[in-house]
Amino acid sequence: MRLAIFGGTFDPIHKGHLAIARKAARHFRLDRVLFVPAYHPPHKAGVTNAPYDDRVRMAELACGGRAGFEVSRLEEGTERSYSIDTIEKVARMAPSNELCFLIGADAFGEVRTWRRWRDVARAVRFLVVSRPGWNYEVPEEVTLERLDTVVLPISSSEVRKALAAGRRPAEVPKPVLDYILKHGLYGTGGKPH
Ligand code: ATP
Ligand code: MG
Repeated sequence: MRLAIFGGTFDPIHKGHLAIARKAARHFRLDRVLFVPAYHPPHKAGVTNAPYDDRVRMAELACGGRAGFEVSRLEEGTERSYSIDTIEKVARMAPSNELCFLIGADAFGEVRTWRRWRDVARAVRFLVVSRPGWNYEVPEEVTLERLDTVVLPISSSEVRKALAAGRRPAEVPKPVLDYILKHGLYGTGGKPH
């Protein structure tokens, strides 16, 4: 049983995230991909960024019951979302799984700044997906497999900008876009004229 934790702010989840999970699942023969939205305390949520519950809900809509894709609330209520805490929780819940950590090149590049990163390195096998414009070095403590054929010029930041500017970005899955518009997220609410 191969399980991959896929952490992120998912603010909002986009088609790039789904493509990564799909490609990694096939390439690395993953049985489960656990999407783990990072928790943000309310006082830190910026006006244009969505609250935790909405980000979880959007991730659920995007996964849409796809076999093997699950959304987890494991980081809910945590003061700061540290990967090591999530990894240890998952390891306790599913001790027989081979634990992987799915991540993009940009985020992996910062791995040495993570809390207890050597413990993280011992606990998981990193599955690192390429991202346009990002290179990274591999610390020798880390066990890693690369997936370098992914070229997805998509980011949540760009999606948020486009939404706030009144556009309807095609990079957002339809059920997620509907949710965003229904709840007026990312500045799509506006005031009625
Ligand atoms: P933001 O612009 O707000 O940072 P994002 O698009 O980077 O959003 P995150 O939620 O920060 O999305 O990323 C979650 C994970 O998905 C990270 O590991 C990140 O590297 C990876 N990821 C997101 N988009 C891509 C992409 N286009 N190509 C490769 N990896 C990606
Ligand atoms: Mg990011």
